[in-house]
Amino acid sequence: MENVLKIEGLCKDYGKFHVLKNIDLEIPNGSIFGLVGRNGAGKTTLMRIITGLAEPTSGSYSIGGVSCRDKRIVSYRRRMGSIIESPAIYKNLSAYDNIKLQYINLGMTSYESIPELLELVDLHGTGKKKAGKFSLGMRQRLGIAVALCGKPDILILDEPINGLDPQGIIQMREILLNINREKHTTILISSHILEELSKLATHYAFIEKGRILQTLSAQELTDKIRKSSRLKVSSAELLCPVFDRESIEYKVEDDETVDIFSDISVTRLVELANSANVQVISITENNESLEGYFMNLVAKQEGIS
Ligand code: ATP
Repeated sequence: MENVLKIEGLCKDYGKFHVLKNIDLEIPNGSIFGLVGRNGAGKTTLMRIITGLAEPTSGSYSIGGVSCRDKRIVSYRRRMGSIIESPAIYKNLSAYDNIKLQYINLGMTSYESIPELLELVDLHGTGKKKAGKFSLGMRQRLGIAVALCGKPDILILDEPINGLDPQGIIQMREILLNINREKHTTILISSHILEELSKLATHYAFIEKGRILQTLSAQELTDKIRKSSRLKVSSAELLCPVFDRESIEYKVEDDETVDIFSDISVTRLVELANSANVQVISITENNESLEGYFMNLVAKQEGIS
């Protein structure tokens, strides 16, 4: 996967307040990249910088390989669609007319594709109803349609799920998955609730107090929070052939630490270790939830800073 967006050593200060601290991020082409952080972590500031609404204090970013210091960035930024804070829509216009206006702004003269765009965000059939009378979910979906008008390669969405009811969240998730799969649009999406992103994100970055705590793929996150038992043993090397023979799923962390993913009793584990002359020093269960995982990362950062 190539990177559609690359951020290097990016910092943002407001006076003496360091809002973003040395951010390095690579957003792979075709990914749904979840930026997860608590309120005030710096998500909106980062998105405002990438979309050209604010300048970095230092560091840089590039879109499709073009640096933010390159003059061509202006045209490359047209490859981005975004909703930062609230969707850019006109309340006194219908969904169709909002999109048409954006087409005109972008210099597009054919409006044939508007019904398809309305259908994509589930707003076909809203007719002449003005956007001001739409629910929050409908307004967010219209904002996404407007952001998609120029057929962007990357869609940047700041907390689009915030405030939606459970049905609205499901609908939004399905629409975003559809846009990603059908239109191959890369999506950078922020939220303060990891659980909400977990059903659609392919990659994550965790941000806290302006610092990236961790980046990882959805598969890596799933592995980390999978129900497992961590064994401390005298030798992982001697024990693993026994696990292979018994078809027990495991992952070696180091020569004295093995994570077991199969459902197996402690008695059986000790029996197997004994059969290989391996001593079991301790067994701990890992039953972490997604939010628990995120909060632990934050707690570790607080311990450091
Ligand atoms: P939220 O979900 O609450 O919007 P966030 O992760 O998007 O949080 P930001 O809006 O980026 O966080 O804000 C990060 C920090 O920077 C906050 O402490 C905020 O008060 C501060 N901040 C943002 N914009 C400015 C500004 N223009 N001037 C001064 N401080 C600012």
